[in-house]
Amino acid sequence: MTDIPYKIYLEESEMPSSWYNLRADMKNKPAPLLNPGTGKPMTAEELGGVFCDELVAQELDDTTPYIEIPEEIRSFYKMYRPSPLVRAYCLEEKLQTPAKIYYKFEGNNTSGSHKLNSAIAQAYYAKKQGLKGVTTETGAGQWGTALSMACAYLGLDCRVYMVKISYEQKPFRREVMRTYGASVTPSPSMNTEVGRKILAEHPGTTGSLGCAISEAVEDAVTHEGYRYVLGSVLNQVLLHQSVIGLETKAAMDKYGIKPDIIIGCAGGGSNLGGLISPFMGEKLRGEADYRFIAVEPASCPSFTRGTFAYDFCDTGMICPLAKMYTIGSSYIPAPNHAGGLRFHGMSPVLSQLYHDGFMEAVAVKQTDVFEAAEYFARCEGILPAPESSHAILAAINEAKKCKETGEEKTILFGLTGTGYFDMVAYEKFHDGGMTNYIPTDEEIAAAVAKLPKVAE
Ligand SMILES: *Cc1c(COP(=O)(O)O)cnc(C)c1O
Repeated sequence: MTDIPYKIYLEESEMPSSWYNLRADMKNKPAPLLNPGTGKPMTAEELGGVFCDELVAQELDDTTPYIEIPEEIRSFYKMYRPSPLVRAYCLEEKLQTPAKIYYKFEGNNTSGSHKLNSAIAQAYYAKKQGLKGVTTETGAGQWGTALSMACAYLGLDCRVYMVKISYEQKPFRREVMRTYGASVTPSPSMNTEVGRKILAEHPGTTGSLGCAISEAVEDAVTHEGYRYVLGSVLNQVLLHQSVIGLETKAAMDKYGIKPDIIIGCAGGGSNLGGLISPFMGEKLRGEADYRFIAVEPASCPSFTRGTFAYDFCDTGMICPLAKMYTIGSSYIPAPNHAGGLRFHGMSPVLSQLYHDGFMEAVAVKQTDVFEAAEYFARCEGILPAPESSHAILAAINEAKKCKETGEEKTILFGLTGTGYFDMVAYEKFHDGGMTNYIPTDEEIAAAVAKLPKVAE
């Protein structure tokens, strides 16, 4: 099949004009967000105090299958999309596998990841509502960078709470955000009540996404004209990220390619949810079958070792409760974990699909992830983000299985971004200083025991 090019690009005119809302095709809908005070589903009005109105409508919409992408967002997408679907001929050759491997590369923009797809959408709706600005958290820094780019483009103020360990380890990430005009605060900070409380309870903590979310939410709700935006986990983010899957499906259909296995790394689930959405839609409607594999770090194993239950999205316990696979919002991932994907929970959409048996999950160790990253970089050329490299590792493992069995399977994976800002982690790996932290059953049980009690 040498007639398949190394890179399949769509024409601009072939780019999707609507996002696809996978929830419309789910028989078991994701459980609603609950108000932690009352235990009742969050109303649009309650959510509107934290999030932009139009994003609240998208968050709560479980029935509309296609939602039009506003013209302004489509124009912005055209600056860096369509993203290429790449046939990994060199990787196949190096692995000597009969498998055909494809990856959808989302790293071709300055933020270096897929997060810009949702950042521009969220900033657009904030602007449309006449807000002054938005607040958010960022872990590894990609989301904060993407949001600062989107806010600069639209002239919105952007306040980023950056997990302290990343703030210290990734000074250049921070400077990119400041270049785009964002203010960046290491979290936990003394700026917020919740930050001061976390610092008092855990002096010297290097922070977590959960802490930073609490601070960003508090900042938004205590300042007029500000709302909070989130780069993953939420239904609206998966909706925006469906552009990844829709483009992939269109590119594959052009060449009559049908993937057997679709793989993505899973932090909060947005890239995976976006990549699989049109394929999963076909599976849910009984039109086609695919294997879907979520790849998560062994140090933060929400799918493979977590519990499907209501939990807080943040450590400060001020956000709504989401029903998801979680290892407990009080779990603070080990600081030696460099590879991103450190969130304790998982998208409620993906959690429901996993619970219903439509998806598989594997957990992988970070030294194996970096080994796969380096292997990939040396043949395919792209320097992958550590997060993306979780998917690379799983794709390589599946391709190796094909070599053993002689099966010519078609494997598709999401290459979510580049790793230029992760060189401290690469350095650690090269110097042999990288370790694998795997939580004990007792640690996870202790965090899960603190899950909020919810009558369902
Ligand atoms: C944020 C990020 C991820 C993980 O987030 P998801 O919401 O699970 O997609 C993966 N890869 C890169 C490059 C990221 O920036």
